[in-house]
Amino acid sequence: MSTVEANVEVSGDPVPEGNDLEITEARAARVGDITVRRMLPLRLRRSVGAWCFIDHYGPMDVDGITGMKVPPHPHIGLQTVTWLLAGNVLHRDSLGSEQLIRPGELNLMTSGRGIAHAEESPARHDPTLHGVQLWVALPDASRQVDPAFEHHGELPGTSLGGFAITVLTGELGGVASPATAFSPIVGAELSAPGRPANCLLPLRPDYEHVVFVVTGQASANGIRLEPGHLLYSPTGRHEIAIAAPAGSTLILLGGEPLGERLLMWWNFVARTPEEIEAAAAAWRAGEFGPVGGYQGDPLPAPPLDVARLKRPS
Ligand code: MN
Repeated sequence: MSTVEANVEVSGDPVPEGNDLEITEARAARVGDITVRRMLPLRLRRSVGAWCFIDHYGPMDVDGITGMKVPPHPHIGLQTVTWLLAGNVLHRDSLGSEQLIRPGELNLMTSGRGIAHAEESPARHDPTLHGVQLWVALPDASRQVDPAFEHHGELPGTSLGGFAITVLTGELGGVASPATAFSPIVGAELSAPGRPANCLLPLRPDYEHVVFVVTGQASANGIRLEPGHLLYSPTGRHEIAIAAPAGSTLILLGGEPLGERLLMWWNFVARTPEEIEAAAAAWRAGEFGPVGGYQGDPLPAPPLDVARLKRPS
């Protein structure tokens, strides 16, 4: 392994960064009143394994203000993965689920053929909000499954080289998450709580992976990472050297390359413009069902330009 820190070149498209690793920089996006670091999808990389969307937000001060307020909106063709580093968020969906989530807990919503949900800071909420919102594309064979919602209040963990590792989904270091997965994927949090940590993290060579920092900083094979940097490792790699100072936290995501071309529009993951058009029409017609308990109007779908969706990109 190299311990020499490389100069990090960043751009919207993948930049080779020594070995076979590539690094990209997040773009700022708005979700309601919140600015997020959007790291995936990239123009030249729509998914990593089945992971097709990575937003990192905060830490931000939400003391005495509304905080997160994402009105009811629909999803098709994906799972949403909610993971908090600080604060609390209330989830409600069209199945009737109502679940407060806190750090260390996992909310996993499988849209299957269709679900609607809302996410907001509860009326009395913690002063800080910090988390990630991830989407996992459902493989073609599972896209029409029934919608479902899971909350995992405790997840299995292990430790390696001073890192406390929590396995969100899939399996890492012999530890398996109970979260439902529809394709071979892994998701894990690595944190260096009280002192610096340094490990050779084992990777499955049949998976591609990304690593990003959510708190503090880290290095991966000598490449310096700060929040907003996304490090990509293609298949074929058996391990990666991760080091981080005390107080830092990273996320590892990976999976077997999906091998399916995704068409993403608004909150839908599909394969054809016609499916997108049908889902948008179903949302306008109220066919996803109500999200009970939410005070306020649902999100309208943005204008849909089908001709643009049909153009190859
Ligand atoms: Mn959503």
